[in-house]
Amino acid sequence: MTRRRSRPRGHRAACPTGKVRFRDRIAATLALATIQRNDRPGRDKLEARVYRCPSCGGWHLTSGKSRVAR
Ligand SMILES: [Zn+2]
Repeated sequence: MTRRRSRPRGHRAACPTGKVRFRDRIAATLALATIQRNDRPGRDKLEARVYRCPSCGGWHLTSGKSRVAR
């Protein structure tokens, strides 16, 4: 795989998943922590985690709503 493409216009990198893209794991983790912090008790906690996207090379948040063992 060679990346010869020039950067797309703007800072919004397009990702096939359509999810919010983070530049690195730290940014994604911080965002995840913020979400969990705002999560109200009594509500079903969404088990979320960060993962690196093989499509865009960025990081995304994923909720563990549906458990997919992988
Ligand atoms: Zn992605």
